[in-house]
Amino acid sequence: MKFEVLTWCAAISIALVLAMASSVRASDDTFTVKVGDLEVSMLSEAQREGGTDILIGASDADVREFIPNGSYPSAVAVYLVRSGDDVILIDTGFGTNVESNMRALGTSPEKVRGLLITHSHGDHIGGLLSDGKPAFSNARVYVSKPEYDWSSAMRESLDKYGGAVNLINPGRLGDGAELIPGVRAIAAYGHTPGHTMFMLESNGERLLIWGDLTHAMAIQMPRPGVSVRYDSNPDQAAEVRKSVLEYVSENKIPVAGMHVAHPGIGTVVPDEGNPGGYRFEPMAD
Ligand SMILES: [Zn+2]
Repeated sequence: MKFEVLTWCAAISIALVLAMASSVRASDDTFTVKVGDLEVSMLSEAQREGGTDILIGASDADVREFIPNGSYPSAVAVYLVRSGDDVILIDTGFGTNVESNMRALGTSPEKVRGLLITHSHGDHIGGLLSDGKPAFSNARVYVSKPEYDWSSAMRESLDKYGGAVNLINPGRLGDGAELIPGVRAIAAYGHTPGHTMFMLESNGERLLIWGDLTHAMAIQMPRPGVSVRYDSNPDQAAEVRKSVLEYVSENKIPVAGMHVAHPGIGTVVPDEGNPGGYRFEPMAD
């Protein structure tokens, strides 16, 4: 009963905030922010609840504390980056809603010039092909060499893109050459052997699109050492997560994630009184 009342209160306050917000919210399927001159949009493939059975290294006490109802908000999303006529897409999701979400924002798959891939799991590359052909017919594709070498499924799909595939060697946080203007690829190996994040920068503003650095924000923010069954190397994934969270919170760099629930974009701040833990503050609509 208490939970129901709280939920209702939350729903009412969210409704009030939305009513007061001056920005236009097209639908729950997209969420757009400005990063300097860039317009970055979260395109939702799915919003859903995740289960505790995927967690690795979470104590029973932590699960009770951070996931008291047995599930937590999760999502599958891709990110669209626009600057004038330049259109970049980061991941393809399953390929279910990407095209309709793009059209709702006034663009389309054939306008994508750069397609950046974080890694080779199906919820990220499922939309590479449409009827066996490249779904993004004018795009150059950028993918890390270790990921390409690791995943035969991805190589098969990318074969259809022929010479448009660029194999890259991601740099380190705060380092690395520009892949295309305003975009740097950053190694975050662990979730998969070639898992890559993308740092966007324009007019002194930055946004880190961190791919699958997290899957269960409810517990992986306060306890970054918790990994998930989808991580190829759970220990390496945990170490990378800790160092990235430290870096973005110290440098106050907003972040976006493929499994972060709507709006998908926000900031990471240290969790006072919980050393080594963080809180995620979603960006307001
Ligand atoms: Zn994923």
